Amino acid sequence: MIYTNLENLSNEISEVVNQFGIDLDLKLTARFDGENKMMVFTEFSGKEFKFEYKLTYDGPLEKKRVIKRFIKLSAYKTMTECFGEKLPWGALTGIRPTKLAYQQGERWQKFFLDVMDVSPEKTNLIAEILSSQKPYYSPMGSVSDLFVSIPFCPSRCAYCSFLSSEISKLKRLDEYVDALIFEIESAKKLPLKYKCVYVGGGTPVSLPDEYFDRIMNALSGDYREFTVEAGRPDCITKEKLDIMKRYGVTRVCVNPQTFLDKTLQLIGRRHSAADVIEKYQLVKSYGFDVNMDLIAGLPNESFEDFCYSLDKAAQLDPENITVHTLCLKKGSKLKENSARLDAGDVAKMVDYAHNKLKLSGYLPYYLYRQKYMAGNLENTGYTKNGKACVYNIDIMEEYADIVACGANGVSKKVYGGEDRIERFASPKDVDTYLSKVEQIIEQKNKVFG
Ligand code: SF4
Repeated sequence: MIYTNLENLSNEISEVVNQFGIDLDLKLTARFDGENKMMVFTEFSGKEFKFEYKLTYDGPLEKKRVIKRFIKLSAYKTMTECFGEKLPWGALTGIRPTKLAYQQGERWQKFFLDVMDVSPEKTNLIAEILSSQKPYYSPMGSVSDLFVSIPFCPSRCAYCSFLSSEISKLKRLDEYVDALIFEIESAKKLPLKYKCVYVGGGTPVSLPDEYFDRIMNALSGDYREFTVEAGRPDCITKEKLDIMKRYGVTRVCVNPQTFLDKTLQLIGRRHSAADVIEKYQLVKSYGFDVNMDLIAGLPNESFEDFCYSLDKAAQLDPENITVHTLCLKKGSKLKENSARLDAGDVAKMVDYAHNKLKLSGYLPYYLYRQKYMAGNLENTGYTKNGKACVYNIDIMEEYADIVACGANGVSKKVYGGEDRIERFASPKDVDTYLSKVEQIIEQKNKVFG
């Protein structure tokens, strides 16, 4: 429980405390001395601390950010003092450390290391990513991407907390496809030039061929990049790949998660590692760029098991490999079954992936963090030279407008000059989405039109 006189920040404070894997009482009181001085008093487990900060900011929005940052830092320092333990990302709890680095400008490394107590290894990882992003990063131009959500899967994986429906149980699939195409066509009429298209899931290729063809047809156009998150190999077929080729897809995600059959069974995936390899080769025969997702920290996997999967992926040599850290949220079967994770092993896995992939010719190019990640780590995308997924950079660094279509899609309008982002999410549940699709389109016309 958090006791504070800054109630609007109590969630942020608990985020910091929860990173230490405990649920204990922390008392935090802030006092202001004029406009530029803040004192923070904390009390945890019978120990008391006092922190003093000089507040420098440019405008009220920046002032709020600076106060929030120092409040989180006070909570973090209190916890590190009491537990004698530091975290790899220090007092940073945000999803986008790279975006924060850009915002801090030239002094970002000093800020990460000296103020936020981020480890030198993670600071260096950010430096590598900023360097890889140089040819792609374009915050000045008006950039727009199109995201299409197909929130259906053939079955549910045990670690999944995403609201994805089992496709065989869905009664209104044909209506969903009609509504989605209507939304895509409306999005294409907006006065925007889309740079990238990303069809995400769920598992978009779990749709019947006829529906998939109609959606791809509605999307076809001239883009820099067109990704389909095919995901699970049990749904990748020659027919689906023919459709993707016909409508101009450039990049396909084939996600093994692990190359160990025993783990695939345990997490409820209905395919083997051999299926992944077979489908990967089929996808490559069409000339698509391929991304492979792997997860560090899957249940019952040792460090050696993870290394086996990582080596296998590197050997297959796809253009992109994304290394996720297992993240167990409420709603996933694994969370309900309280699978235990060894945070130390997961950190070793993530380090191994970084070193091995760099030796194999990959560079880290985007990164994000989530709540409840094993070991408080991160998800990192690696790429072969010149093959980075531009959409992933656009969405993480938040300089591009995202027009999202479909249930659970989140559109984003970036007002660069005002340092402001407006987000609006479509309903997650298909029935509600269907009843509101016209309103959703109207709202997008107003914001992006
Ligand atoms: S394929 Fe992805 S979205 Fe579908 S159930 Fe598995 S983890 Fe969830």
